[in-house]
Amino acid sequence: MRKRTFRGGIHPFEGKELSREQKTVMLPADGEMVFPLSQSIGAPSKPVVAKGDHVLRGQLIAEPGGFVSSAIHSSVSGTVKAIEPRTLATGGKCMSIVIENDGKEEEAEFHPASPESLTKQEILQRIRDGGVVGMGGAGFPTAVKLAPKNPEKIDAVIVNGAECEPYLTSDFRRMMEDGEDLVKGLQVILKLFDNAKGYFAIEDNKPEAIAHMRELTRDLDRIEVVPLRTKYPQGGERTIIKAVTGRELNSKMLPADVGAIVDNVDTVYSIKRAVLDGMPLMERIITVTGDGVKEPKNLRVHLGSSYASALKAAGGAVGSPEKYISGGPMMGFAMYSLDVPLVKGSSCLLVFAKDPVSRLTESSCINCCRCSQGCPERLLPARLADFSERGDLAAFEKLHGLECVECGSCSWSCPAKRPLTQLIKSARRRLLAEKKKAAMQAKAQAAGKAGR
Ligand code: SF4
Ligand code: SF4
Repeated sequence: MRKRTFRGGIHPFEGKELSREQKTVMLPADGEMVFPLSQSIGAPSKPVVAKGDHVLRGQLIAEPGGFVSSAIHSSVSGTVKAIEPRTLATGGKCMSIVIENDGKEEEAEFHPASPESLTKQEILQRIRDGGVVGMGGAGFPTAVKLAPKNPEKIDAVIVNGAECEPYLTSDFRRMMEDGEDLVKGLQVILKLFDNAKGYFAIEDNKPEAIAHMRELTRDLDRIEVVPLRTKYPQGGERTIIKAVTGRELNSKMLPADVGAIVDNVDTVYSIKRAVLDGMPLMERIITVTGDGVKEPKNLRVHLGSSYASALKAAGGAVGSPEKYISGGPMMGFAMYSLDVPLVKGSSCLLVFAKDPVSRLTESSCINCCRCSQGCPERLLPARLADFSERGDLAAFEKLHGLECVECGSCSWSCPAKRPLTQLIKSARRRLLAEKKKAAMQAKAQAAGKAGR
């Protein structure tokens, strides 16, 4: 089996055995459901319901607040209890629609369609109406991503089944349990791109998923299953495009610039549901795992449920865990409360009995170069971190610091335990903010001159 990959990368402990054989089970929705209005990149969604309204499962409760924004639907039937700021998994606050679930699961009317009956515009409209966003964490509105300037130049639609983050197994379960729907979802996307071929790109630590998807696509000329070498961050947008097509892109480019579209497994499933079944995005699979969880599981959750309910469904915590992470250990973030809602981009609740990272002591760089060897963007993380510490953003930019994809490989590789990714991330934020400010000032000046 030929396995494709990219240069660089690392091999962290996988931890997937804890939950990979756990078939997905439904987490019943219970009590209060919270729907934050910012669940995608772009403008926040705008509520179309008010306090006291009765809503149905699948009913639109917030419409897109702009072109780059997404619709939000209730995952339960019940009553709108409040529209107020609520805490998110990140710790920040966000205006949210709070619905008291009545437990009746009364559904809105859904309108299925056959793929042959839909035009390209109708497909895109159904995806937009269904509130589908990138569910691998990016949260980019899918209807916008699937409408590039030159659709005829797209020749590769890649379904990202790499699932390269340690511990996560939700995409694996989706491929094993809903493979037919994924094929249908990919065929829907291919209807938008006449010159494209579809690829299921899957890391070779999931041989069953590779075999299963191959079986399902055996007679389909336009779809190929591509095994990828297991290596972090193989599932990054740039690295998966490089592995599948051999093409490279940088921070100034979009995948469409190199003829590619990449969508995560769960996103493709949601596209199938929205376009063919007429059902909006109301559920997703999350993995609840780690050595701090009694019974690691893959759960099908109603969006708006709490992380706490997901942990309870997995048997609860073992003792008093020291660390909770939303997402994977490489790119996820620490959580300080589980009484926060599961949203479209929530892929995993990781619970660790101990938090070894908090006990690490940083020492001086020994110039071993391990950080640069693992960097998928061929950067020099040690130098970039130095520039960040010194506040030398010009030097940071000159050494291509903006090309960092914040994958965390450099920090993981560093024997001196330097917080390389955090330092680089911080410099990127500062530099991007400076650039934005300069662009706004230039625009204001230009407007001033034109008005004179
Ligand atoms: S976080 Fe950035 S600098 Fe570090 S390895 Fe990843 S891409 Fe390279
Ligand atoms: S891995 Fe750590 S110790 Fe080695 S060169 Fe990079 S920053 Fe220095």
